[in-house]
Amino acid sequence: MTKNYAFIIAVIYLCVNTTYSQDVYKRNEKVDVLDYVFSLSLNDDNNEIFGESLITVDFKNGLKEFSLDLIAKSGEYGMEVTGVYEGDVMANYEYSKDKILISPKYDGPITRTFKVLYHGVAQKGLVIDTTKFGQRSFFGDNWPNLARHWLPCVDHPYDKATVEFRITAPDHYDVVATGKKIEESNLGNGYKYTRYKERAPVAMKVVTIGVTKFAMKLLDMVGEIPVTAWVYPENRLDGFSDYAVATKVLRYFINNIGPYAYEKLANMQAKTQWGGLENAGNISYFENSVTGKNTVEGLIAHEIAHQWFGNSVTENSWNHVWLSEGFATYFAILYQEDVYGNEKRKEELIIDRKQVIDYYKKNPSPIVDNTIKDPMKVLSTNTYQKGSWVLNMLRRKLGEETFWKCIRAYYQGFENSNAMTSDFLGVLEEVSGEDLKDFFKQWIFTEGHPQLNFSWSYEKSKVMISVTQLQDHHIFKFPLEIGIITGDLMKVETVYVNAHSHIFEIDADVAPDDVVFDPDIWLLYEEK
Ligand SMILES: [Zn+2]
Repeated sequence: MTKNYAFIIAVIYLCVNTTYSQDVYKRNEKVDVLDYVFSLSLNDDNNEIFGESLITVDFKNGLKEFSLDLIAKSGEYGMEVTGVYEGDVMANYEYSKDKILISPKYDGPITRTFKVLYHGVAQKGLVIDTTKFGQRSFFGDNWPNLARHWLPCVDHPYDKATVEFRITAPDHYDVVATGKKIEESNLGNGYKYTRYKERAPVAMKVVTIGVTKFAMKLLDMVGEIPVTAWVYPENRLDGFSDYAVATKVLRYFINNIGPYAYEKLANMQAKTQWGGLENAGNISYFENSVTGKNTVEGLIAHEIAHQWFGNSVTENSWNHVWLSEGFATYFAILYQEDVYGNEKRKEELIIDRKQVIDYYKKNPSPIVDNTIKDPMKVLSTNTYQKGSWVLNMLRRKLGEETFWKCIRAYYQGFENSNAMTSDFLGVLEEVSGEDLKDFFKQWIFTEGHPQLNFSWSYEKSKVMISVTQLQDHHIFKFPLEIGIITGDLMKVETVYVNAHSHIFEIDADVAPDDVVFDPDIWLLYEEK
């Protein structure tokens, strides 16, 4: 996801799989939701929705109860539950504190399906509004945990499930949603019934619907994947043109990371609180993303990169969201580097490096910050730009070939599943054969970055280079590239910094004209 795009300590132990840090969501450890079927009725008279959800769950070890999130009616907003059934039989349930606690009456098969009937007006999550052209519209906008305002579900990314939407809406609307369209029927009473089904498991933060008047175009097929643009009819040609680049982006990521996980890739102009929201196979872009001037290629690349990182490989704890946002940020840069060259990578990373430095001054915290409990607060320059920067440094450390081998292995290992930072580290160490624990400790689990003072002089056929680390909390260890410039030539030497201060000597026949540090933008540091 991207924020509105218009503007565009001590070392903590590495978490093990069973440790979920400070993410405070209470998990149903013994139950696994396998599938949701969300039937929703929408109308033009008011904003009330009527829902019937079929929820298929796997019970483990004789589990007796489990709970679903659904925000209850309070004043104007929220949902009323009118019944919970297993088959035709009313189930034992209790609805309080925004949770439906279901306790089945009898022991039965391990996989069971429950039906929840409810209605109400969603305050958030399902945005019922008008488009900038004044057309009534309904858009899902769930990230991070707003699905519970309109869909009964386990509203946390650790429990992913397949999902189907069955939407009944006035027949003058076009309906798009997560998954493949498997039915569109005119009901003959002024309403239309549309079904979309996604076979890959998805997290509730990235399921969506879009219901309004749309112009839709098939941009291209990428292998078996239809890539479409869904834009407001008033923006038809400009929108088709702006979103067309999605096919090129999709091909790049398939070729470099691995297979695409979802049924389709719809690119949807939408009412969203974000610049872009990476809904699985059905991305939302902010209304003014359409300009007809191809100004959102970086945004499109970011959201499409999320289909691999964030959507298919999903962080298991909100505190590890850099596995989603840091990756999407860096993979958008990798795509742009591929298209526009290395200068584009450098340009983006220089901008991001400055942001990381500025952010640190006010927020000295690590990328994985276990003190954060609110998922809205995990989004920061640390999880986006610094996370991206860590991948840039990792790429340098591993080398091009090993970096990509690791990325492909990580994706293959955790595709359609969940991962923690320790899982990524495990794959990296296994594939590269390198010990990367110190690298992860200093860049991801420790605050800050090297604050460096440099100076150089030339004496007796040697360039003498002094490097001092000025930050007071931690000594960083890193390779540093030094460019020795003589005339039109730059010779790059790499030295290894692992102490408070160093003096490096580099042989040179003549006095250089200049010495530059990190000329190719591979190190996250601040010059002091
Ligand atoms: Zn993002």
